Amino acid sequence: MEDKNKQLWDSTLAELELVLTKPVFSTWFKDTFIVENNDGRVTVGVPTTFAQAWLQQKYHHKIYQILQTKLSGIRVKEIRYSVHNIKDFYKQVIELKQTIKQEATANEASPFDSITFKQTGLNPRYTFENFVTGKNNELATAAAKAVADNPGHTYNPLFLYGGVGLGKTHLMQAIGNKVLSKFPNKKIKYTTCEQFTNHFIGSIQGGKMAEFTRTYRTPDVLMVDDIQFLSGKEGTQDAFFHTFNELYQNDRQLIITSDRPPKALAILEDRLLTRFEWGMIADISQPDMETRIAILEAKCREKNFNLDREIIHYITLNIQNNIRELEGALNKIIAYHQLNKQPISLDSIKSILFSLSVSGKQTSSLTPRKIIEAICGFYELAVEEIIGPSREKRLAYPRQIIMYILRDELQASYPTIGQELGNRDHTTAIHAFNKIQRELDANEKLRQEINLLKQKIYTV
Ligand code: ADP
Ligand code: MG
Repeated sequence: MEDKNKQLWDSTLAELELVLTKPVFSTWFKDTFIVENNDGRVTVGVPTTFAQAWLQQKYHHKIYQILQTKLSGIRVKEIRYSVHNIKDFYKQVIELKQTIKQEATANEASPFDSITFKQTGLNPRYTFENFVTGKNNELATAAAKAVADNPGHTYNPLFLYGGVGLGKTHLMQAIGNKVLSKFPNKKIKYTTCEQFTNHFIGSIQGGKMAEFTRTYRTPDVLMVDDIQFLSGKEGTQDAFFHTFNELYQNDRQLIITSDRPPKALAILEDRLLTRFEWGMIADISQPDMETRIAILEAKCREKNFNLDREIIHYITLNIQNNIRELEGALNKIIAYHQLNKQPISLDSIKSILFSLSVSGKQTSSLTPRKIIEAICGFYELAVEEIIGPSREKRLAYPRQIIMYILRDELQASYPTIGQELGNRDHTTAIHAFNKIQRELDANEKLRQEINLLKQKIYTV
């Protein structure tokens, strides 16, 4: 978008924001922009045909008035609303996902991998060099490096914990890769707790305990990823306990990761937990903005891909709690760029992030009440009206849509849905869900409306 158009539209939006409620404004004017201003013939880009119709019908006059005051000296002759098609976009996202998957498999098949990977379980991609240190992982990184320099003799075991996608596996494998290059004769074994468990069970059943023991009790460095999955598996815990002791007594290095600290691994035997506390326990927490920016920039350099500072900022502002998602978003942006062969604009980034937020939705913090409020805001209705007894059509339809979304997004039970909507009977909820689902097949406009609503509820 040209700068002049952007300024014009920004100032128009600023005034619209003053006269509209917040939900209405963010619902209808998010992701809009001026495509073109040809001497007073203005084309406004909107994300959906639904928004197109809505702006045309409900807000055209207001937009016209404001634009006219902004365009001094030029008469506004026409305002058109044009769609940049979100449906095509979804199709592209699916294609992108496939491209990315194919690329990932192609990457995995490099010759280094196949040999070393078989022996060690290590992925050469995970190194210290491409691991960005920030406040969130300072201690963990320092401990990991110390262990890599002198395995078995500094911190034993090294216990790393932290939430999903924050770099535990990367850091753990970086130790392995470092040891591998520094001490080529050392035997290294990386395994996930799940593989360990399956191997153990398979070995018992197949009478191959000797091989199992050899695999896990002879390495100089043994890494077990995601130990929380050992919870409740008594037999495997026992096997792990003996493995641990054997290695520890022989000054072999143990590295363990978990999604929570040892004390919080409630279903693990005490004798194991005590051992985890013998060495060093370090956490990896969520990265702050600065670290997220550094990570994203590092990934861009790695992939030889250039993104504007403004865009990096936007992405890191919107993906806060998980580095895997940050990286996933970057991969999609790159693939999108390759497919479209167009420069990356902030607008395209916004739609890509939106499509990711819809497909990777996080339902944990969503409650029925929040959904009801968001949808009422969208339709400009009061919550009291929606949960009230009236069966007026202007209320009945949004109510059915709310019921549909509660079911579809939260997997709420029908009685709960009925209850949330003013103690209605569960059969009413069933009827509403089925009705909307049927309509969705035939009604493109409704599909878009529901997509918009979903976008809305995930951005409240
Ligand atoms: P976890 O095992 O904690 O779930 P991973 O180690 O699989 O997380 O990390 C997820 C992704 O994020 C990986 O691709 C990893 O390379 C990347 N990553 C995580 N932390 C960092 C970091 N500090 N610097 C660079 N990349 C990181
Ligand atoms: Mg992991």
